[in-house]
Parts: sequence; C-alpha cells; structure tokens
Amino acid sequence: MEIITSTKAMQARALQLKKQGITIGFAPTMGYLHDGHIKLVKQSLENNDITVMSIFVNPLQFGPGEDFDAYPRDVKRDQKLAEEAGVNILFLPERADVYPNEPSFEINVLKRTDVLCGRSRPGHFNGVATILIKLFNIMLPDNVYFGLKDAQQVAVVDSLIKDFNFPIQLIPVETEREEDGLARSSRNVYLSEEERVHAPHLYKGLKKAADAIQNGETNPATVIHIVEDYIKTNTNGEIDYIEILSFPNLEQLKQLHGKIIIALAVKFSKARLIDNIILETQIGSRNFEV
Ligand code: AMP
Repeated sequence: MEIITSTKAMQARALQLKKQGITIGFAPTMGYLHDGHIKLVKQSLENNDITVMSIFVNPLQFGPGEDFDAYPRDVKRDQKLAEEAGVNILFLPERADVYPNEPSFEINVLKRTDVLCGRSRPGHFNGVATILIKLFNIMLPDNVYFGLKDAQQVAVVDSLIKDFNFPIQLIPVETEREEDGLARSSRNVYLSEEERVHAPHLYKGLKKAADAIQNGETNPATVIHIVEDYIKTNTNGEIDYIEILSFPNLEQLKQLHGKIIIALAVKFSKARLIDNIILETQIGSRNFEV
C-alpha cells in the first residue's frame, strides 16, 4: 500500500493514473476504521483498478462544542486495516496542507440540509461539501463510495456531484452492522457498557417503524410515535430527532409514499449515534437514482 501525505503529490499521482486510463475508486473517511469503512473499500476494489482511501478528520464539519478534539484517532491501526482490506493508496493529509490559507470561498449547501443532522448541526454539510470538492479535485476519482449510514450525506453528495458537474459516479453502500444490529461507527467506542446494551434498540425501533409502514401505516406522525415510544422505553439516550422524509430529496411528507427514509439521532453521554432505514412504500413508488 502506498501512503501519500501531501495534496500536491496525491493529485500528481491521480493525474498520472488517469493518463494511463486507470480507473480510481475513492472512499473518503475520518479514520478509526471499522467494517463499515472496509465495506466501501471492498466494493471499490470490485469496480476500479485502483482504490484510494483518505483519512482526514475535517475540522470544518465540526461545530463549536462538538467532538473534533475527542474524535477517536489511531493512524497506525488504520494503516494496518487499510492495507489488509486491499487499499492501494492511503491519503493522509495534514490540516495545514489541506487548509493552508484563510479561505476565499464559502460553500453553502442550500437543499437537503434543513432537516435531520443538517438542522441539529448547522454548517456541518457546508464543511462536508467543502472538503469533498477539494478531495474530488485532488483524487480525480471515477467512482466514490459513501455509506448509507450517513444517508443525508449521500443525498448532499448526490446534489454536489450533479450541481458541479463532477464526472463522478456516486455509489451508496448499505450500512454495516454489528451482530445485534447496531450500525458500526467510530463513535461506538464512546458508549458506556450500559449504553452499548441499549444502542441496538435504535435499529430495532427503526425496524418497528418499517414493519408498521409495511403493514399499511401511512401517517408519518403515527410512525414517529412508534419509534419514539420504543426508544424512550428501551434506552436512556436523549432523542435528538426522529424524522420520516422522502429520499433522496429529504422533503416532508403528509402521507407516506414512494421512497422514504426513517432516520434518527440519539445522544448518549459521550456519543451521538445516528441510524436510518430507507424503504420503498407500497403506494406511489417512484424510482430515484440514489
Ligand atoms: P466517517 O469516517 O464516519 O466519516 O465515514 C466515512 C465513510 O464510511 C462514510 O461514507 C460513511 O457513511 C461510511 N460509513 C460509516 N459507518 C458505516 C457503516 N456502518 N456502514 C457503511 N458505511 C459506513
């Protein structure tokens, strides 16, 4: 596995590969790798000549009081896991190289961000979009791999690629879970023993909602109540949000139809966890590209 730490060197390498007609698959991450990240790599390895992974904890996407400093980091361990997974190039840039100057531009994501994590984390997706524009221009990928655990991110990246005409294909990847259903996340290490027992109930609550919808429930408020009751009864976490929206447009629905997302965020003492289920309802199903 090749390790590249400078943005200039990475871009030069990507340009060289492109000139040779080599296809590049790219999985951006913030590290502290787990099987969810590895799933992105595996999928990329199947569809591209070269798979690049980046590890960069992007300060721009953390708000004041969020866990930027406490975000788990272990580069040595990540290097080993990335190599074992088959990553060809690992890009590990320094903050001062990625953001050398005061920025002259500000990216403001206008759509798909006034809901879910966008509402609870103002500015988060502006930071995500900014780093991705930079990484896409550095990495010149043909295909980019993003996990559906961060479904709102997938929806925003879908718009970013279309709005800015990036010649890139977005490949959303299913959420990788622990055996008990908990979505894998770098932040799971911050759950206490008791919280770790409670955390799988997030997915169980989402599945209760999916069952209700599949059994014909079309009122979003009723479905949200089912999840809320379940989470409150089975966990000591504090609900940040539970929402049901169209996917990928992330619009409110009076009655459930077409492709929808049921998503939640729950705060435990040291970790805020998110999870979601995306499903096609029986009524008025339409096909979306994501
Ligand atoms: P992060 O390091 O948390 O920024 O995540 C990097 C990428 O891995 C994003 O595209 C995430 O959506 C994806 N990812 C994180 N957790 C999972 C998971 N449990 N299953 C699938 N993809 C994931």
